[in-house]
Amino acid sequence: MDKSWEASGVYMLTCRVNGKRYIGKSVNIKRRLNEHRRGKSYSTIIGKAIAKYGWDAFDKTVLEFCPTEELDEKEIYYIAKLKPEYNLAKGGGGRKGYVPLSAIKKLQKPIICIDTGEIFDSVKSAATKVGVTDVCISRVLNGRGKTAGGYRWDYLNPEDKISEETSKNMGKANRGRKQSAEEVEKRAAQLRGKKCENYNSYKKVICVETGRIFASVKVAAETVGITPGFLSNVLCGRAKTACGYHWKFAKEVFYMTENEVYDLLVETGAIMTGHFALSSGLHSPHYVEKFRVLEHPSYTAKLCRAIAEHFKDAQIETVVGPATGGIILAHETAMSLGTRAIFTERVDGVMTFRRGFTLHEGERVLIVEDVVTTGGSVREVIDVVKAFGGVPVAVSMLVDRSGGKATFGDVPSFALLHMNVETYKPEDCPLCKENVPLTKRGSTGKK
Ligand SMILES: [Zn+2]
Repeated sequence: MDKSWEASGVYMLTCRVNGKRYIGKSVNIKRRLNEHRRGKSYSTIIGKAIAKYGWDAFDKTVLEFCPTEELDEKEIYYIAKLKPEYNLAKGGGGRKGYVPLSAIKKLQKPIICIDTGEIFDSVKSAATKVGVTDVCISRVLNGRGKTAGGYRWDYLNPEDKISEETSKNMGKANRGRKQSAEEVEKRAAQLRGKKCENYNSYKKVICVETGRIFASVKVAAETVGITPGFLSNVLCGRAKTACGYHWKFAKEVFYMTENEVYDLLVETGAIMTGHFALSSGLHSPHYVEKFRVLEHPSYTAKLCRAIAEHFKDAQIETVVGPATGGIILAHETAMSLGTRAIFTERVDGVMTFRRGFTLHEGERVLIVEDVVTTGGSVREVIDVVKAFGGVPVAVSMLVDRSGGKATFGDVPSFALLHMNVETYKPEDCPLCKENVPLTKRGSTGKK
């Protein structure tokens, strides 16, 4: 490092191992780089990366030397321009990681320009208007500066003002804030004494305020630049917030979008493209072979969990499906709902319950079916359920390819995927005219 680096400016660290970058600013770049080297930034993401890869694995560059008062702006500019991977904040504030929630809330309060009398709904809008950073105005608002952009500023509501004493302490706290790795570890060890039942560092974590979900406690902690210990204190109820935010373990998300279902069916080969003769005698360029996805238990379970999620509050007592695909779907859906699963089958072409399956009077039944084209089989299942005294609460389908034409009287329906599959009479089929080889498909054993 050159002696000339003992000056104010914006610098960049580039990790030669993974190519990730970090941009920082300092009134004395050389001194700041030495701090990084000595591990003073250990509590931040860049600090951890330095610890992991070693100081020598980082290329150091000065992006620009500039006067101290321009540091905020320059840092914001370079972060926005270069989008360095190790920076999480937009820069300018001198804060690492997430901006604490309390600070964001403060920025959203209405403020007044004392000299012009103009009122702004937030610090940000005022800052934009005057052409300075949020931080400059916030400093004035909190009594740590006289003017910003040449104007004096105040909160519109006096109760939003931070007292002089708090402001002083904030200044102090900010100056001497960084805890050493030992201090952090010591505090974490103290708190670890308290046991936490559901704690699992590999569970997904959600930030309540931002809604962002992280793969694990460690990932969330690293992202916001705190130790996993601090975050676990919140997750286990030993502390209210970490980095100003509330945190929870994220519930697993069972919901699936139609696109996700479609992709899964295409990937497994359940949705096929070609030239198919359907059991109805019609030709189609698409065919759904449900068993290409049902032959994968984990995928079937995923799809059925999505169905169960939709009906979790419907007080279902039994899930019924028509053989053969419906047996699997009923079983998996009932597994998720915690109910019984039974199936209907054909005896001499007539849909019925066999094997001693019965329903009690008024039993709430969810009917499941894989692929519905006309809805004929499902209507037969509804009739069987009613004949046995059950109440068909709803029909749930993996794929409704009827284009909305399959309806079930007063029984509502739900499909994970809606498709509008075009079909042609053989004499009008464009694929036949092009001599595309025809595949026979769709023998359902139905009459
Ligand atoms: Zn054809």
